[in-house]
Amino acid sequence: MTIKGPKGTQDFYGIRMERWKHIEKTLNRLMEIYSFQEIRTPVFESTDLFLRGVGDTTDIVDKEMYTFKDKGDRSITLRPEGTASVARAFIEHGLHQEALPARYYYMGPMFRYSRPQTGRYRQFHQFGIEVLGTREPAADAEVLEIIMKIFTTLGIQNLKLEVNSVGCPVCRPVHREALKEHLSANFENLCPTCQSRYEKNPLRIFDCKNEGCQSIIKEGPTITDHLCEDCQSHFRLVLTYLDQNGVPYVLNKMMVRGLDYYSKTAFEVSAGREGAQSSIGGGGRYDGLIEELGGPELPGIGFAIGLERVLLTIEEQDAFHSMEKGLPMVYVANVSESDLPQALSLVRQLREAGIPAQGDTMARKLKNQFKYANKIHADYVITLGEDESAKEAYPLKNMDSGTEVIMPLPALIKTLRGEGE
Ligand code: AMP
Repeated sequence: MTIKGPKGTQDFYGIRMERWKHIEKTLNRLMEIYSFQEIRTPVFESTDLFLRGVGDTTDIVDKEMYTFKDKGDRSITLRPEGTASVARAFIEHGLHQEALPARYYYMGPMFRYSRPQTGRYRQFHQFGIEVLGTREPAADAEVLEIIMKIFTTLGIQNLKLEVNSVGCPVCRPVHREALKEHLSANFENLCPTCQSRYEKNPLRIFDCKNEGCQSIIKEGPTITDHLCEDCQSHFRLVLTYLDQNGVPYVLNKMMVRGLDYYSKTAFEVSAGREGAQSSIGGGGRYDGLIEELGGPELPGIGFAIGLERVLLTIEEQDAFHSMEKGLPMVYVANVSESDLPQALSLVRQLREAGIPAQGDTMARKLKNQFKYANKIHADYVITLGEDESAKEAYPLKNMDSGTEVIMPLPALIKTLRGEGE
């Protein structure tokens, strides 16, 4: 019996791997332009980090974590998201003593034990940014501009940015009481899960898919209507900046987002797909998180983008045309066995010049080398025999057009680099 990859995981190879790398390259380039530094943290952490940093009443922590004991009897969890790890590293290395705001980005696998379906995996990848050390609305506006810039640069269409403010520790308890009052009148009609959420975290009821619960919560007070003055003016300014910067958005008072640490601005982006797996990215402000994890009182804001969903969206929208093509690949075929050393020497010289090249390592006959060159989609083929070696002039055949030009090595390299004659 053969062994299959674990449920909810994917292998990337071939064209999808190329697309994946195109996405990564675009993200890295944008991060350079927006002056963010990369941070890499381990894929596993102490379970406590997520209990404290994500919140033990969230679905992620409650139901979806890959938690296990290691051989030293420590409770370990495969990271379900990136922000808690970045915050942990930030505190551990005293990075708040360096220039603020700190601007970090990360990219890597995340793990959540949920029911796999299209767009939802048990190992998936997130790209995210974190801006630490500023509570100014201008920072929120910049972060929102960046998430939208990423999607538009990748050629994604039908983008919808939904924003909300989820308040702060001053206004949230007031809203919570108002909400509980509304819910208590309808308690019997809530689903059992929401009945248990009522005490622990009534805000979570906003995320319930049950129609009965939805119709009850819809009639209830929203946090946005209960914002304190500080949160109100903060939110107003964020929206003003978005208007000024020409970033389109819609207000969604029902959006509360899944994680406990969010405060003030919360947002989510989708791109035309409907249903539960429609979100391609989301984030928000988390002004209490660093302190919650034992660090200084330092605000932060960030987002995470799901790379599998981005890939699916670009494929569905057929938007991979903007994918830049790298340097052309050359296959150097040898006419007979005795020409192989010269052929491989030419391969080496092309590679030295930074040109992707390959030669025969299967002792194939010329016809079979051509077949192979076709299969690997070589852009050019050079066929090298005694004559070519002696004259140091090489026939460069364009596999698309079929045209062939004979050139010495320096001209060949120029052509392949696209530098012309
Ligand atoms: P979250 O950390 O839940 O706010 O998720 C941020 C983004 O990660 C979402 O918008 C999705 O694009 C992506 N994402 C979250 N969970 C999964 C999953 N199980 N599989 C694939 N992508 C996911």
